[in-house]
Amino acid sequence: MIKTRIKKNDNVVVITGVERGHSGKVLQVDRKKGRVVVEGINKKKKFVRPSQENPKGGIINLEYPIQLSNVQYFCDKCKMGVRIGIQLKNDSKVRVCKKCGKSFDN
Ligand SMILES: [Zn+2]
Repeated sequence: MIKTRIKKNDNVVVITGVERGHSGKVLQVDRKKGRVVVEGINKKKKFVRPSQENPKGGIINLEYPIQLSNVQYFCDKCKMGVRIGIQLKNDSKVRVCKKCGKSFDN
């Protein structure tokens, strides 16, 4: 299990590799493997057999998982990838931007 504060539907930015600087929404987090699927990132063509959803089959563009360590939470106040901090607010933990202190969970 990998410790991460990134959750599904977060907006993240890629910080390394060919797609560095690209951002997108988290579609899936795999803590066991330490991987994350981000909308529009690491798209590859995949050949699919005909199925109920896709009766013709053929080639689709699908997002493939990337390493969790290759993404950072995108703070829309800082306009960049940031580290996530934890703050106590009304007895519950909220995720905040380590740079500007903006809360990511209301
Ligand atoms: Zn910030």
